[in-house]
Amino acid sequence: MRYTEDATKSAEYLRQAIPMMSRHTAPLNPMTYAVWYEVVAGINPALAAAVEESNRKGEVLDSSMTASLFRRFIAEIDEESAQRISDGFQRVLAGISQSASVAGDQANRFSESLALWDQGLNEVGMRSGLQAGIDRMRGDTQDMQGAVADLATRLEDSRREIEVLRQEVSRAREDALADGLTGLVNRRGFDMALATCLEQAVAAGKSPCLLITDIDHFKKVNDVYGHLMGDRVIRAVAHVLKQNVKGKDTAARYGGEEFAILLPDTPLRGAQSLAESIRATVENARIKRTDNNETVARITVSFGVAAYTPGESAIEFIERADKALYESKHAGRNRVTTAIDPARYAQAA
Ligand code: GH3
Ligand code: MG
Ligand code: MG
Repeated sequence: MRYTEDATKSAEYLRQAIPMMSRHTAPLNPMTYAVWYEVVAGINPALAAAVEESNRKGEVLDSSMTASLFRRFIAEIDEESAQRISDGFQRVLAGISQSASVAGDQANRFSESLALWDQGLNEVGMRSGLQAGIDRMRGDTQDMQGAVADLATRLEDSRREIEVLRQEVSRAREDALADGLTGLVNRRGFDMALATCLEQAVAAGKSPCLLITDIDHFKKVNDVYGHLMGDRVIRAVAHVLKQNVKGKDTAARYGGEEFAILLPDTPLRGAQSLAESIRATVENARIKRTDNNETVARITVSFGVAAYTPGESAIEFIERADKALYESKHAGRNRVTTAIDPARYAQAA
């Protein structure tokens, strides 16, 4: 991980970074913050040297210079770090915004009391001797009010900009985890969901179930009807999967014509009957050809089902479900096989 500093340390860096950032004209977005954060944290010597050189020349870092530093010395920041920075920055900005608004209120109150004071002096006939001083104070107060209002506007703009960036990061992340052909989660997304699910299952003493399914004789579909029709069949099977999972379940396209379904909260019997129901739905579905509207020969799928056994790794869990799938294939396809529970197997042996 790129940033390992704890909350206290990172807050300290934040306090150091903000005055540095404000001396330059680049917008206060997460990219600018990443540059200054790495400078004050002392974790990026090459970047620090470049910034020092630029300071020595008296340069003011604008948006494009800062972006260029980011690209040269930080680029390729991972999504999670970007998200964390953006979230943290948003919180800090909200805090500063609040302080700016308090400062603005105080400036307004000060201006009102100056006016009252001015009026009072006038009434007691003491105004003329203090005129110059009073005018200067009122002028300074107006300048201060203007500066606070400018700061508040700039902060609000930055806050909006960060919100847009945050949404972009979250969209990019969703895109990166989705399969383009079917809209299901892709393999990477599935592996992430599985890791999280197993972590929670271990903590809660639960036993999630995994279904792996593969289209039978799919090569023939491609050979007889063409690749485009093959894609259509993949989408049709994915559609059946989507219709059959809900809530916390994850349906993923695990490979070419292979899918996986993760059921964090379903007992083995429920998982088996879900597999059986999907198998039957696919077997009975009729997929039409686009060219002549004829039905494609019957499509079937085979399943391997496994319930998680405490202590096994994600890979071992997948391998057991996969092995059960291949038993389904060897036994003639279009069927559901349940993996052996290794604990029971050990007891029996
Ligand atoms: P089995 O019943 O043993 O699973 O037989 P199979 O023909 O399905 O076996 P295999 O897994 O060897 O073949 C899968 C084929 O799926 C090979 C590959 O060309 C095809 N395939 C993989 N991804 C795609 C895809 O995105 N679109 C299409 N149309 N075909 C794909
Ligand atoms: Mg296949
Ligand atoms: Mg296959």
